[in-house]
Parts: sequence; structure tokens; C-alpha cells
Amino acid sequence: MNQSFSVIIVGGGPAGASAAIHLAALGIENVLLIEAKRFPRQKVCGEFISPECLEHFARLGVQAEMFEASDARITNTIFYSSHGRSLRFPSAWFGGDYALGLSRAEMDAKLLERARAMGVHVVEEAYCANLLIEENQVCGVRVKIKGETQIFAARVTVDATGRVRALARHVENEADIDNAKSRNLASRKSRRPALVAFKAHFENAKMEAGTCEIYFYKGGYGGLSAVENEFANLCFIVRARDVRACESNPVRVMREIVMKNSRAAQTLESARAVSPWLSVALEGFGKNEIAPAQGLIAVGDAASFIDPFTGSGMLMALEGGQLAGECITRFLNEDKSRTLATLASEYSARYGEKFGARLRSCAALRRAAFMPSAIIEAGVGALNLSARMRRRVAGATRATHYKRFAS
Ligand SMILES: Cc1cc2nc3c(=O)[nH]c(=O)nc-3n(C[C@H](O)[C@H](O)[C@H](O)COP(=O)(O)OP(=O)(O)OC[C@H]3O[C@@H](n4cnc5c(N)ncnc54)[C@H](O)[C@@H]3O)c2cc1C
Repeated sequence: MNQSFSVIIVGGGPAGASAAIHLAALGIENVLLIEAKRFPRQKVCGEFISPECLEHFARLGVQAEMFEASDARITNTIFYSSHGRSLRFPSAWFGGDYALGLSRAEMDAKLLERARAMGVHVVEEAYCANLLIEENQVCGVRVKIKGETQIFAARVTVDATGRVRALARHVENEADIDNAKSRNLASRKSRRPALVAFKAHFENAKMEAGTCEIYFYKGGYGGLSAVENEFANLCFIVRARDVRACESNPVRVMREIVMKNSRAAQTLESARAVSPWLSVALEGFGKNEIAPAQGLIAVGDAASFIDPFTGSGMLMALEGGQLAGECITRFLNEDKSRTLATLASEYSARYGEKFGARLRSCAALRRAAFMPSAIIEAGVGALNLSARMRRRVAGATRATHYKRFAS
């Protein structure tokens, strides 16, 4: 079966679903959303949905459903240095009274369901294996559904496949092969992941009610916060070599690395996992190619992966989906003088305005968070003396608030 669509979005996480819902709400018909998994599916994530996301949920028409799924309201985030010194950041500093704790299984399924209800063609268990490229222009995708390859064409294709950047990587690999051929070199070597993230749901975690707790330790950090059904989600990032030293056993990693943080040792002492452990390798953070090829744009983690301790990855996914929806709608609705090159440059420029400053601030915060422990302890002490300074730091991870607080 060959079919043509106005827009194809690959990836049904928050970025892809947000783009699809916004396109449908803006009147774009014939949008296809392709997702490799069947939802609901679990995902490695802190599951801390920052206050600004709640406004997005209202805009996307899913706020009531999200609150029905969880009443875990988070009014404070507390960062603990490895020696137990703490820094408190009220959720109110991020533009809402509270954040929400809700599993990705629930949140993502509700967004995908909303896209379907808005008239988007949603196909699950469909793996996008390849791009259709004609005259250097992406004009659709090849998708494996139940073992069969199907071809779908579109005027615009969106890479919302998260950190794997499945479509963008395909374009880069093609370019690498061309370069390698012309320079007679082997194509790009795969990078070895330096970090690994784990997560599981727990009962009996002894944390402060209404808080998300973040624990720093040598080489990484972890977050513990409430989700639905009175469970707590523990999600942590550690160095790959520490995982190997613990024989890739998540319980050993938790006990021998994460619980070196004195506060984590207290809260997790009698906690018990109630879900299977999930893990994923992390290659790095930061901005990628926003418009990797003519006819292809990237959203969410496929565009940029912001450091998870900022709790703003899902916000960027939802905002990015909206931005992509607006730019694509303009391209499709306006006169023929708007070319794919105009779409790429408008989207890249607006993306830079929206996310550039916060990506730079978060990169600086990440460097600061991994300085020698004596410097960190001194920094935590200094920040504790000034709520204004803490508020500025919080604002730096969010574009609009940064401008307000920096003035
Ligand atoms: C350890 C960790 C903790 C985090 N904690 C938080 C947090 O507490 N709060 C927060 O706001 N953010 C957090 N984040 C960031 C957040 O998870 C991401 O920013 C967010 O998931 C990005 O959404 P996305 O839609 O871009 O990608 P994803 O959520 O990754 O969705 C991509 C989708 O694409 C699908 N897909 C991939 N390849 C294909 C293919 N070839 N064909 C079809 N479908 C495909 C996948 O199945 C997936 O469903 C965390 C990230 C990590 C790694």
C-alpha cells in the first residue's frame, strides 16, 4: 500500500504527539504519525512533568486526563550534594504552583490517544527503517509494519524519534558514506556511550512529601519523585564504567553508586522495586541538526537533548512540537513561494530564539555540577544564602523566565 500525506511524523513521544495535535488543531489534514512501539509503554525518564507542561496539556486538550491519571503534585525540587547539603527550588519559580509526577506509560499514551481523536492517522508497531530521498530532498519514509515494507510519501517529514534521531542519522550516514567514498576513508565510527540511565518504580521510599529529590554522586545523579498509585520513580544516570564494575546489576549500581549520596542512602534504605528495571545508554547532550535535510525537520530530543536534571526535556518536546506545527502549517498554507528551504530556515531561526539560551545555560550548569566536590559544596553553601540567586539559576533553564529574572 503506497499512500501520500501532507506531513509524516515519526515517533509518538511528547514531541511527535504535540506536533501532530497542533497540526490537526491548525486545520492540517492527512497527517500520519508512525510509532515503533505499542502504547502504553514504559520509558526511562524521571517522570517529573514540570509546571509549564501543564499549560501545554491544557492547550493540547489533555489536562483533565493527566490529572485523572495522577494526583502526585510536586511543589519543590531539592538537590542534594553527595555529602547531604541541599538546595531547594519551589515549583512556583517555574511558572506554576506544582509539577506533576506521572509515568511515561500513562502520559505518552494519553497524548497519542488525543492525536488519534483529533483525526491524525496513528500507526503503532510501525518501524521507520529508511527515508525516501529524491534529488537531495526527503519526500517520505519506508516503514516496516508486521514484517512488510510500506512506502509513505509526504511534503514534510518530522524526525521525532528522540535521542536515537533515526531519520537524521540516516541522512548523516548517507553523507558520511559519500565523504568516506570521496576521501577513501572508513565511515564514521560508532561512539561508545559514556553514561547509562536506569529507572524503576518503588514502594516505601522515605522521601519528603510533595518533593522531587535529586542526588548527586561521583560521575552522575539520580532523581526520586512520586508518580501515580503512591509509587516513587527512581531514575539515575551513572558512568558506563561504573555499571560494568557492578556487573550491570541495577540494584548493585543503586546501592554502590547512587546510595553513596548520604540523602539517597536514607530515602532508599528500605525501598523496594515494584516494576522491572529499564536501562538505556546515553551518548551525550546538546543541540543537533534542526533541519537535517530539505523536507526533514527534527523536534524534541532528536533536535536537542537537554540535561535531565533541569527537568525540562518534556517541556522542550511539547514546545518544540508546537513550534514545528506552526512553521509547517505556514509552509503548507501559504503561497507556493514558500519553499522547503524557507521552512528549514524559519524553523531553525525560531528554534534558536526559543531554545538557544537555555541550552547554553544548561550546558554551563552541567559543567558546574560535575566540578570537584569541595567547589560544589562551597557553591551549594553560597546559593543557599540567596533565594534570588537560586531563582536566577532556575530561570536560566527556562527561556522566558530567564529573561524576567535576569533583568
Ligand atoms: C534518564 C533520563 C531522565 C529524564 N527525566 C526527565 C524528567 O524527569 N522530566 C523531563 O521533562 N524530561 C526528562 N527527560 C527527558 C525526556 O525523557 C525527553 O526530553 C523526552 O522524552 C523527549 O521526547 P521526544 O518525543 O523527543 O522523544 P521520546 O520520548 O524518546 O519519543 C520518541 C519515540 O520515537 C519512537 N521511535 C524511535 N525510533 C523510531 C523509528 N525508527 N520508527 C518509529 N518510531 C520510532 C520511540 O519508540 C519513542 O516512542 C529524561 C531523559 C532521560 C534520558
